[in-house]
Amino acid sequence: MNLHEYQAKQLLAKFGVAVPAGSVVSTAAEARAVADKLFASGKKQGVVKSQIHAGGRGKGKFTSGFKGGVKLCRSAADAEEYARAMLGQTLITNQTGPEGREVRKVLVAEAPDIRKEFYLAIVLDRVSSRPLVMASTEGGMDIEEVAAHSPEKIHREIIDPAVGLMPYQARKIAGALGLDGDLYRQAVKLLPALYRTWWECDASLIEINPFAIVEREDGSPGLLAVDAKMSLDDNALYRHPDLQEMRDLGEEAPLEIEASKHGLSYIKLDGNIACLVNGAGLAMATMDIIQHYGGRPANFLDVGGGASKEQVTAAFQIILSDPNVKGILVNIFGGIMQCDIIANGIVAAVKETHLTLPLVVRLEGNNVQLGKQVLHESGLAVISADSMSDGAKKVVQAVSQ
Ligand code: ADP
Ligand code: MG
Repeated sequence: MNLHEYQAKQLLAKFGVAVPAGSVVSTAAEARAVADKLFASGKKQGVVKSQIHAGGRGKGKFTSGFKGGVKLCRSAADAEEYARAMLGQTLITNQTGPEGREVRKVLVAEAPDIRKEFYLAIVLDRVSSRPLVMASTEGGMDIEEVAAHSPEKIHREIIDPAVGLMPYQARKIAGALGLDGDLYRQAVKLLPALYRTWWECDASLIEINPFAIVEREDGSPGLLAVDAKMSLDDNALYRHPDLQEMRDLGEEAPLEIEASKHGLSYIKLDGNIACLVNGAGLAMATMDIIQHYGGRPANFLDVGGGASKEQVTAAFQIILSDPNVKGILVNIFGGIMQCDIIANGIVAAVKETHLTLPLVVRLEGNNVQLGKQVLHESGLAVISADSMSDGAKKVVQAVSQ
């Protein structure tokens, strides 16, 4: 589950990471009120930031023609004007895809002068199976680009989860960023707070880009998380009712929300062959084999170990609401599940959804003969397949006719 920047910053602040003071609002008038207070308190500069689940907002463009999803402002009137130009509009960035995202909220925050921008992130490293802190002096830009062109500029620190981020590691990271004096001391305090946020929230990612040296009110330099991107591990969400409430369904694909209601894992892709599979590994292999035979999968869909008739019907309905779908491949391995139960589910779902698209079914495992018999006796135009490759070939052929 992804969080908005303003939510990530609330969590970071709670754990002691310095973030710019600000509030999230959903109308231009509210933006004005927040900015009024900000400037009245003596701040010289503010910023209005579109809240969408995608980065690259600063360089983004609205379909209205307005440029920039992040705007610095010097007066409350400017803040109001920018908020009005963003709210209710669609912002396109290099991460949203061409359709963009509607901006429903903006964050209005103080914007102290930035002296230097760094990059800071914590991810779960799949190679070492441990938390990994990444820090770079090349902040504010695409980290993928830094990784591709100058990987030596990314400092990597692997954390032992049993002990957490050790003080010597915080010092190493602060050193790698070239910090010294008071800034070094600030970083050594801030890094463990960042790690604690990641750990305590069961986050899968926290990315601070830019993590900046800013000029504080007394003129001294300070460290601040100017941007924040945070994703939580869905499998741990049950432990965090407070974080669950941060879910913004408006940012999620409607079909994926519908699927999760039925306990299905569904990810829409851009091909035209839908697949309905039990088990994530088999679902991946099915997408691979469709691709191998020249087709393109329309989705990833895992109905889980013990799919019921209701789940299979819901799965068909979800698959069929994607207008790109031209054919369906059902690939079921009856390990826990009985093939005849799935076959009955398929028959019911086909009847209920009035399916007219080509449907290829490959069943294997428990009660496979019974399952095939159910499909055969249903009188439905189901194309039966004997193996995964047979099924993939048949469905690719069916959609290319
Ligand atoms: P995105 O990564 O989606 O483009 P950012 O929050 O990183 O959004 O904003 C883009 C740029 O805007 C930053 O790199 C920074 O230069 C500037 N900016 C954003 N927030 C602030 C702030 N609070 N104070 C000063 N500058 C800011
Ligand atoms: Mg950023």
